[in-house]
Amino acid sequence: MREHVTQAAYLAASLLFILGLRSLSSPAKARRGMQQAALGMLLAVIGTLVQQEIVRYEWIAGGMAVGAVIGAAMAIYMPMTAMPQRIAVSHSLGAVAATLVGVIEYYRHGADVGRGKMVALGFEVLFGALTVTGSLMAFGKLQEVLPTRPITYRFQNFFNLTLFAVAIGLFAWLIYDASNPIVFYTMLTIGAALGVLMVLPIGGADMPVVLSLLNSYAGLASAATGFALNNNVLIIAGALDGTSGFLLSMLMSKAMNRSFANVLFGAFGAAPAGGATATSVAGLTFRSLSPEDAAAQIVYARSLIVVPGYGMAVAQAQREVRELADLVTKKGGDVKYAIHPVAGRMPGHMNVLLAEADVPYEQLYDMEAINDHFERTDVALVVGANDVVNPAARSDRGSPIYGMPILNVDRAKTVIVLKRSMNPGFAGIENELFYKEQTAMVFGDARTTLKQLVQAAKEL
Ligand code: NDP
Repeated sequence: MREHVTQAAYLAASLLFILGLRSLSSPAKARRGMQQAALGMLLAVIGTLVQQEIVRYEWIAGGMAVGAVIGAAMAIYMPMTAMPQRIAVSHSLGAVAATLVGVIEYYRHGADVGRGKMVALGFEVLFGALTVTGSLMAFGKLQEVLPTRPITYRFQNFFNLTLFAVAIGLFAWLIYDASNPIVFYTMLTIGAALGVLMVLPIGGADMPVVLSLLNSYAGLASAATGFALNNNVLIIAGALDGTSGFLLSMLMSKAMNRSFANVLFGAFGAAPAGGATATSVAGLTFRSLSPEDAAAQIVYARSLIVVPGYGMAVAQAQREVRELADLVTKKGGDVKYAIHPVAGRMPGHMNVLLAEADVPYEQLYDMEAINDHFERTDVALVVGANDVVNPAARSDRGSPIYGMPILNVDRAKTVIVLKRSMNPGFAGIENELFYKEQTAMVFGDARTTLKQLVQAAKEL
């Protein structure tokens, strides 16, 4: 009977995970998607708790209570801008669990573990250990407790690949003969070292891609745990986690027009790359506007497209953006928001922030849907975006972002850019848009500037 309850709970949990993932594909249903996935997780936990194999519940109850307190605290107190770091911590905790299960299973069965099970345990431990340290490194870089620039040295890729090959060799040895624990623990140690070494040469801003790749490793490790423990929900959830993480990292690389290899081995951001640089625009001048003058242009626009970027997230200016947009709407103007797939520092970054400020979903437009609108738009208001509106991506073959699809902001009649200085964005390159005739810069922290714009607009 208990077994039936467990299997039914696992089946329902798996369906809810799939439904949850499906709902996450649209901002309007994303919240429901998270609730479906959370309910699925609850059912999976209940299904596991009713199993007969559990000997004592005290430790489990204690662990769940501690986990619930930590989870709730993270959900309540972590700001949205720290979400990538938070996800990195969660990944490392999940991977610790998978690795420990693998170690305990090996410890219990030793040489008698059997070849099929050793394959599962090897995956679990090697990819689990790599994910633990890799995620902690990603956390350190995102939180800036570690240097965010890529750390490179000679023959680095060759060294890492050799180490990886050694780990795979040890894995193969264990499948053939699992009797020597030194081989097992050496493989585990190399896995942990690889997590550190592979993340070292990757710049802090590429961490979201790395995290989603590590997510797919963690999924692989969980699926392997499922095989080792004969647990269906772990196999299904691990497979979903693994494939969705892998697809997401591919989509992110594609949206940046960079290959996977370039993200992982290209040390992007190590030094200002070629292409348009500060000197290539020397001699050009830019125009700056006071918030009062900018407010007049914005509030009387018939059509306004807001282009949010990483700076909006840093300044936490989403509510002020919406307040200003509401004033434009009140005066009869049409407002749209243009969302670039890699604006900010994680997928969906802008959608989440704008949803938090209750911006109506129907005003959010993906890049493909909005790009033709710019040439018919009075004002494009760029709020802390830089690379995703850089025309060099279209025209400068030497630019590191050449080929990356961008928002056609430079085709709007007037462009107003809110940022603190003329400093470059993530890619470290100059942006010609800021020097165009129709562009005006309003310098300052985006939130402070937007407050001034709202104030000035109210007085008009
Ligand atoms: P960028 O990083 O290109 O530019 C952000 C701009 O915001 C900066 O130029 C900065 O200028 C400005 N800024 C920072 N803080 C503030 C503030 N408090 N107030 C006002 N402005 C501020 O951001 P984009 O969103 O345009 O582009 C994202 C970049 O990140 C792309 O290159 C993308 O490839 C990359 N990336 C994105 C990922 C994702 O999943 N979204 C993942 C990995 C990389 P200043 O200092 O002058 O204020």
